[in-house]
Amino acid sequence: MNDAKAIAVIGAGLAGLSCARVLQEAGVAVTVFDKSRGVGGRLCTRRGDGWQADHGAQYFTARSPEFQSQVAGWLEAGVVAEWQPQRAVFGPHEASAGEPVVRYVGVPGMSAPTKALAEALPVRTGHTVRRLLPVDGGWQLETVEHGLLPEVYRAVLLGVPAAQAGPLLQPVNSSLAEVAAAHHMLPSWTVMAQFAARPDLPFEAAFINDGPLRWVARNSSKPGRTGQESWVLQATAAWSAAHLEEEPEAAGRLLVEAFRQLGGPEPEQVSVHRWRYADCEAADTGSVWEAQYGLGLCGDWLLGGRVEGAWVCGRELAGKVLGSGHSH
Ligand SMILES: Cc1cc2nc3c(=O)[nH]c(=O)nc-3n(C[C@H](O)[C@H](O)[C@H](O)COP(=O)(O)OP(=O)(O)OC[C@H]3O[C@@H](n4cnc5c(N)ncnc54)[C@H](O)[C@@H]3O)c2cc1C
Repeated sequence: MNDAKAIAVIGAGLAGLSCARVLQEAGVAVTVFDKSRGVGGRLCTRRGDGWQADHGAQYFTARSPEFQSQVAGWLEAGVVAEWQPQRAVFGPHEASAGEPVVRYVGVPGMSAPTKALAEALPVRTGHTVRRLLPVDGGWQLETVEHGLLPEVYRAVLLGVPAAQAGPLLQPVNSSLAEVAAAHHMLPSWTVMAQFAARPDLPFEAAFINDGPLRWVARNSSKPGRTGQESWVLQATAAWSAAHLEEEPEAAGRLLVEAFRQLGGPEPEQVSVHRWRYADCEAADTGSVWEAQYGLGLCGDWLLGGRVEGAWVCGRELAGKVLGSGHSH
């Protein structure tokens, strides 16, 4: 039976899940859809033969009291832990000042806190939403894998990157498509490198302000990680854009070469991932809600471009939906 009181959230990343949780806690029937096999989005871990590596977000910080309180809950639940790698900075930089930064990671992998959020939520993975159909009383979703879904949703909230929100919003007569088009997302080539032994380097994580790499980190130094010695090498957005159509093997080779110039040894094996939409130019637009259409947008790209922003933005959107009285 159709339930036009229900709300659909597209995207089971941190933004979509935090949004869905607030709605659910307020008594709203909500279903989350994601195209992937699991939840977490860019909070993710690649697992290979005897190794693991976080190939998306590397760590996160908590600056607002609200997010600090959420992180405290995750720490207590054991799905997040502090990570204090031995750090270095290469290339031009100013000496850091002020409070030391506390860095957190999911345990045993980056998606752990999103899995905790998703536990009590109906999440339908393996559902790539390709079209939003306006119908009497709300929206129907058309998916790549399952065609047109029978349910009618009173509202649809998109927690997907700007570039993926755009095509869904284009046919809809709403200003949200313009918001999505105005936000530009940036790519990042990422290498996961495995070594026979721990590289003899005076750092476990490094910010690099010169050349193709922007960040390297010893994944094996994060709490709860198991398996072979593993590092993550991340390219800058500019380098990634310039090499976007490179073969993965060739891009990986160039990034390993840059790692070797920092003193790193030759890896035993590598796995290469191209993020077309890794992060974005910082924005502070915040979530967007169009009550007359029953459509909303949230995601890191609307608020700061990082993990904390995604969480805040998702909750903010839920607050707007509840505040507009649209949820019941
Ligand atoms: C390489 C890399 C390094 C990063 N490093 C850091 C870092 O160190 N610190 C930090 O704070 N942040 C970092 N980030 C950014 C951080 O990962 C994001 O800010 C955050 O995870 C975004 O969450 P989100 O929910 O907004 O989006 P996402 O996590 O991207 O979630 C969107 C979800 O929508 C789904 N989806 C998309 N289109 C559809 C569709 N049509 N139908 C159904 N589902 C769909 C996707 O599968 C995905 O699960 C990094 C990101 C990358 C890629």
